[in-house]
Order: sequence, then structure tokens, then C-alpha cells
Amino acid sequence: MQKILVGLKRVVDYNVRIRVKEDGSGVVTDGVKMSINPFDEIALEEALRIRERGDASEVIVVSIGEEDCQQQLRTGLAMGADRAILVQTDQPVDPLAAARTLLKLIEKEQPELVILGKQAIDDDCNQTGQMLAALWDRPQATFASQLELNGQQAKVTREVDAGLEVIEVDLPAVVTTDLRLNEPRYVKLPDIMKAKKKPLETLELSALIDDAAPYCAIGEHAAPPQRSRGVMVNNASELVDALRDKGLVN
Ligand code: AMP
Repeated sequence: MQKILVGLKRVVDYNVRIRVKEDGSGVVTDGVKMSINPFDEIALEEALRIRERGDASEVIVVSIGEEDCQQQLRTGLAMGADRAILVQTDQPVDPLAAARTLLKLIEKEQPELVILGKQAIDDDCNQTGQMLAALWDRPQATFASQLELNGQQAKVTREVDAGLEVIEVDLPAVVTTDLRLNEPRYVKLPDIMKAKKKPLETLELSALIDDAAPYCAIGEHAAPPQRSRGVMVNNASELVDALRDKGLVN
């Protein structure tokens, strides 16, 4: 296999307590720690392992978004990716725009495998991989917890509601990662230094796709209602009384 393309979305770090902006127009990102979407780190780790086994020659990381996505791409390069592509835009990028953009890069780079996260933890859409496979007219194996390559085929164990499902897909294909696929490596300081010299190409989103306007308008963001304090009860009958007081049981 020649190339693997991996999507890295820049998202608010999963340890950050999300705050909604006062005007409800979105969540606060100023001064907030941003990271690679955790499922995308898993996608990159898997691509690196495939290359290290000798089953691929190049791993390319791609991020679509604002200029600051360079930080996440540099982290991807420090993890071990060979080169990076930033598709730059200041506008929000929804799954369909991301999939259409990735398709353009696929046409240019001709990868045999595209690995994405099963979902981005900011919008929890879980759509981009599926849309990309449809637009590319290639197979998809989503929610992967194991991936084996055999020549022109991939055997993928998928995490589904009923347990595990094993499917075989012809390559090229889109695989999206689930949490148990692997544990991503830590970046070491010398790798961060080395990553500064690796190629990072920047393209304008408008040069790849013409209409990137979101197809879905978000009306308002609101924080969940504050939870009231819990009540300690000493036994089951006090619990039943407390529930009855609240009108939750008769
Ligand atoms: P979503 O459909 O938004 O939940 O995203 C699923 C996956 O698609 C993510 O885990 C990424 O691998 C990829 N993806 C979505 N948006 C972007 C983006 N703006 N840049 C790079 N990859 C993306």
C-alpha cells in the first residue's frame, strides 16, 4: 500500500469543562486548550502502525479549519506522520463540507486507505466517514476496534450494539475508529523538534470546493440546567417517601 490519509480535527480538549457563550452563539474557545479529536489520534496511531509494519509507505494528516489547526497537524507530524495538509477556512466546516474536501484530496493523493475518527467530540455528528465513502463510491468500515490488511482487502472488527461484527472490505476504503482500536503513543520532545522540519502544505478551502456553507443552521447553544443538590436518605422507606414528596411515585 502506498498512502494512508488521516483526518485530524481540531477540537476543544476533552478535559476542558465546556462553557456556552453568553449570547448562545456557540461555546467559548478563547483561551481554551485545543487538541486533536481523540478518535483521530487513534486513527493516526493505526496508520503509523500499518506503516511501521511495512504495509504502507506514507501517512498524510489533513485538517480542515482555521490557521491554528497547524498546531494539531504539527502534533500529528511529531507522532510520526510524514506530511500534513491544512485546508484553511475561517468558516465553520460541517461533515458534508469536510467529506467533499477530503474527496478532493483523495483525487489528488490517491490513498488506498482513509482513516477518520468515528465522530468529532465537538459536534458528535458521526457523519463525515459515511458521507465520504458515499461520495467516493468506496466501501466503509465504521466503528473499527481491529483492523487487518490482506493485500487489497481490509478485515475490520466493528463495535456494534449487539457486540462485535467482522467485515471484509475491498481497498481503497474508509475506516472510522472506535475507542478500543489502539492506545495512541505519546509525543517525545525530539519528535516535536523533528516535526518542525516536516512538510506542511496549506490550501484554501475555496480552491477545492465552491459552496462550503453549512447545510444545517444551529439555532442556539444552551448550557444544561443546573442540577439541584442531592438528598441523602438512610433507608429504602425514606427513599420512597422522598420520591413520593417529589411526585415521582404514588
Ligand atoms: P464528524 O462526522 O464531524 O463526527 O467527524 C468524524 C471524523 O471526520 C472526525 O473524527 C475526523 O476524523 C473527520 N473530520 C471531520 N471534520 C474534520 C475537519 N474539519 N478536519 C479534519 N478531519 C475532520
